[in-house]
Amino acid sequence: MVQSQQGAAPAPNSLIARLETQPRVRDFLVRAVASGRASHAYLFVGAPGSGKLDAAWALAQALLCEDGGCGSCDCCVRVARHTHPDVHHLAPESATGYLISQTRDLLDDVALAPIRARRKVYIIERAEQLRANSANALLKTLEEPPQGVTFILLGTSQDIILPTIVSRCQCVPFRTVSPVAAAEAVARSTGQTPARCRMAVAVAGSPARAVEFLKSADRQDARRRMLRALDALPHADEADVLDASKEIMGAVRAPLAEVKSTQQAVLEQNADYLSRGALKQLEDRNKRELNARERSGIMEVLASARSLLRDVLGILMDGSADIVNEDAADIVERLAQATTVPGAVGALDAVAAAERSIARNITPQLTFEVMLFDIRKALSCP
Ligand SMILES: [Zn+2]
Repeated sequence: MVQSQQGAAPAPNSLIARLETQPRVRDFLVRAVASGRASHAYLFVGAPGSGKLDAAWALAQALLCEDGGCGSCDCCVRVARHTHPDVHHLAPESATGYLISQTRDLLDDVALAPIRARRKVYIIERAEQLRANSANALLKTLEEPPQGVTFILLGTSQDIILPTIVSRCQCVPFRTVSPVAAAEAVARSTGQTPARCRMAVAVAGSPARAVEFLKSADRQDARRRMLRALDALPHADEADVLDASKEIMGAVRAPLAEVKSTQQAVLEQNADYLSRGALKQLEDRNKRELNARERSGIMEVLASARSLLRDVLGILMDGSADIVNEDAADIVERLAQATTVPGAVGALDAVAAAERSIARNITPQLTFEVMLFDIRKALSCP
């Protein structure tokens, strides 16, 4: 355990708990928060799955919570549920990157005082997509943000981010985490079997998200529906595929209901003392948060499909191969019997195409339909 220094903030538990696979990053951020000398702008760089986004949310907790990120107070719970009005999470809203209106809204918001906490945090995903127009307006603010504002930018590599952005941020490199190390971390924190943890990492992407996935009945249900749809595909007719797509989409949206009602409650609590402009911004932010959540749920069910089809391919190529989806071994076996290596490869291509469609903002249900039809066709490939 990290001891807090005399007179400084207590050790940030949120960071310690969520950065097990990134000890150097953890120690660095813990020191920065505990000493009260956190930077006003961080750039977290690392491969997908290295836990940058988890780290960003944990750092937001550590910065906003009166106890340095205790993980259990009202403030920490709100941040963890992504409903704290002073933590803003941005991802590019168009396929080509950030919209100019997005950065403009962001800058307008930066100028406003925090709503609940003493500080505000902006988490900005895919910083490599901040290009000339959208980035220029941001640069000055990034250099000298108003008091109490912290930016956390995330990117895969420093080399592809505008140098003018990189030079204004404190860079924090994340190491690549192997799936085995990630699954071990999940097993330590959940006590679940190694097989389940491996599956959860494959589906959710990072250790912290895998832990959340294992706690969420809704998210596991969405995965199960996707696997069931794949299982049924070799014998499915058109109506079955359309029904399955609808069902999967419904399951992806199920966990959003709770987020929506929490957002509504926050809006009502703040309605009396916020200006109309600030309320409008809060509403916009809520909408964005819901979109981001839905998108990550969609990516998760697509990852479930990919992981299962990889298992099918593995079994077709080597009958004794280890599979990730042990709880769905019967489905893997049935699909392997129903198809061939080119069939499984074609099915995996269909999943990749679906991920690209989602990135281009094609409606999710249509994307699922097209994907399932394409997989059905690929699986029957001789
Ligand atoms: Zn707290």
